Amino acid sequence: MNNYNPDAMEVIILGGSYAGLSAAMALGRSLRNVLIIDNGLPCNRQTPHSHNFLTQDGEKPAEIARKAKEQVLAYSTVHWLEDTAVKGEKTQHGFLITTTSGKSFTAKKLVVATGVKDNLPDIKGLAACWGISVVHCPYCHGYEIRNQKTGILANGDKAIHLASLVKNLTDDLTILTSGKADFSPEQQAKLEKHNIKVVELEIVEIEHDGGVLKNLLLIDGSKAGFDAVYAAVPFEQHSHIPAALGCELTEHHHIQIDHLQRTSVPGVYACGDNSSGMRSVANAVSSGNLTGGMVNKELTDESF
Ligand SMILES: Cc1cc2nc3c(=O)[nH]c(=O)nc-3n(C[C@H](O)[C@H](O)[C@H](O)COP(=O)(O)OP(=O)(O)OC[C@H]3O[C@@H](n4cnc5c(N)ncnc54)[C@H](O)[C@@H]3O)c2cc1C
Repeated sequence: MNNYNPDAMEVIILGGSYAGLSAAMALGRSLRNVLIIDNGLPCNRQTPHSHNFLTQDGEKPAEIARKAKEQVLAYSTVHWLEDTAVKGEKTQHGFLITTTSGKSFTAKKLVVATGVKDNLPDIKGLAACWGISVVHCPYCHGYEIRNQKTGILANGDKAIHLASLVKNLTDDLTILTSGKADFSPEQQAKLEKHNIKVVELEIVEIEHDGGVLKNLLLIDGSKAGFDAVYAAVPFEQHSHIPAALGCELTEHHHIQIDHLQRTSVPGVYACGDNSSGMRSVANAVSSGNLTGGMVNKELTDESF
């Protein structure tokens, strides 16, 4: 790790995954003193292969992050701390961040790249399959599970949205509402038109072998074999610090940002999954890159 003076930081970045590292690269290349605080829990840590990001298609998620970290920490003004940020406060000249290990740091600007936390449904076996055979996104994993017997664990509008995207990837599609189906007559007609089956029986367990789905065990005791399941899963912010600082959230629980990645709190920027519905490594890197540039510009405007 590069040696650093904790009192001389210009920017603190919370979260050192794809978005945070991307912001840090732009800032490091601008000779900004940056501290990244990260606790090593990216949302895709269980998925064996990451797809749909140019030059890294099929790579292990941790390997993409490892290479990124190595390249970013080659810039001597960028520093890394493995810790959890637990408190964020506004100060006269910027922000004060405190970590679980009791350390505290100040900086003029704050970047939150803390991602989101998926609140997986309480179905036995689902967590073990998450990112392996129970997936969230057709762009990330749909090609690999194309033409297979596929379920969609969702209901209502979310199920219709996913079904419309996945239909192009497989003809054997079943919506698993795990409770009473909630579709309008128009939606029902669409499902029939595209031969998409609906199963309302509650799923009590996902039987699997090392995360590879075998059967869904349904409440009536029957088993349904599937190769893969898409699940629309609710999420929450991974860190409460942005909200505690006063950053407004959108109705979809993302941090509200403008087109330059600025939150509603002056001096606080957000990038990656915490502030975007387009959940991908490519988008995290892109938004992080813009954030780094915009934070540098703000620092420049204040001093030039
Ligand atoms: C199962 C799964 C599979 C996926 N597969 C793909 C794929 O194949 N292709 C693709 O493009 N996208 C994929 N994605 C989406 C992709 O992983 C995310 O879009 C991407 O990781 C977002 O990057 P991020 O930096 O915003 O957040 P994350 O990668 O989630 O990282 C957030 C970081 O912040 C840290 N952090 C949070 N709070 C604190 C705190 N208080 N203190 C310190 N550190 C903190 C976390 O430890 C973590 O390291 C997948 C997602 C999931 C859930």
